[in-house]
Amino acid sequence: QQPFLSVKDLQVHFSTEDGIVKAVDGLTFDLAKGQTLGIVGESGSGKSVTNLTILGLHDRRRTTIDGEILLDGKELLSATEKELELLRGNKMSMIFQDALASLSPFHTIGAQIGETYRKHTGASKKEARARAIEMLRRVGIPQPDVRVDDYPHQFSGGMRQRAMIAMALVCDPELLIADEPTTALDVTVQAQILDLLKDLQQEFGTAIIFITHDLGVIADIADDVLVMYGGRCVERGTKEEVLRTPQHPYTLGLLSSMPSLDGPVDVPLSPIPGAPPSLLTPPSGCRFHPRCTFTDKVAGGLCATERPLLEVVDGRGSACHLPMEQRQDLFADLAGSR
Ligand code: SF4
Ligand code: MG
Repeated sequence: QQPFLSVKDLQVHFSTEDGIVKAVDGLTFDLAKGQTLGIVGESGSGKSVTNLTILGLHDRRRTTIDGEILLDGKELLSATEKELELLRGNKMSMIFQDALASLSPFHTIGAQIGETYRKHTGASKKEARARAIEMLRRVGIPQPDVRVDDYPHQFSGGMRQRAMIAMALVCDPELLIADEPTTALDVTVQAQILDLLKDLQQEFGTAIIFITHDLGVIADIADDVLVMYGGRCVERGTKEEVLRTPQHPYTLGLLSSMPSLDGPVDVPLSPIPGAPPSLLTPPSGCRFHPRCTFTDKVAGGLCATERPLLEVVDGRGSACHLPMEQRQDLFADLAGSR
């Protein structure tokens, strides 16, 4: 069976005044309906760029893209702006961290949800209003028939996020891209929003790409996980595989900052020493090598000179020069010494 979304060897480069930024450098993944793929990484790892590219929201004049993005069998990279606009909101939809930036302050919540619905279905204003109320009810807004006439500033942060989800789901999209949608919220509201997304996914069968820097959120919501570093995928697998038996030194570093996988969902990612790489002048070889504590274990200085390939078997894989057995021993030693 063909996966619902299939991304193959995606490369996204864009030109800036300072040179070419290699934001995404060879990314491959599949996503099935009703599944959630968590993409985790620090800022500047290429996760947001990947998703803007899927949505066709990248700046076309500055961007060079290679590879393939198939949504339900349709190639998106060769789609026209018009085709993409039809797909957005209808077949694929998105929610962002900042609901205020996605909602217009000048129109009521109901008008905005209704407008999206009308645009894609040709429904009447009356039908669109009824649909907006229904969606607000679904995302848990109390008194939706009254609140539908509120403006965004009359909603709390959590309620705005719910309204944005209502707007994103009003046309039953099959793919929802969520880019740090809970990052600005307090822990309780964050947990509520994650529960809401899971419920809605059950109900609608939506495929979700959930982008976050927070492994606690991944532990809560993802089925599969893709760990990105410096524009490349360094590790992938099921959530259980990646969180319980990490294979890549970078993933291990991320996990080391979590007290326990069953801990609270608001554990922030404690930074690994050093800074994420510049994608203008990415490090040679393994992009993680300037920050990796295992480079001296790899013979011949390969880490700095040769790109480790991501070898994937049954959806599981990682990109590191260290032989797997040796990695497992080293990781076990570290875990023992904590
Ligand atoms: Fe570290 Fe080398 Fe493995 Fe990269 S290839 S993660 S630098 S050991
Ligand atoms: Mg981002």
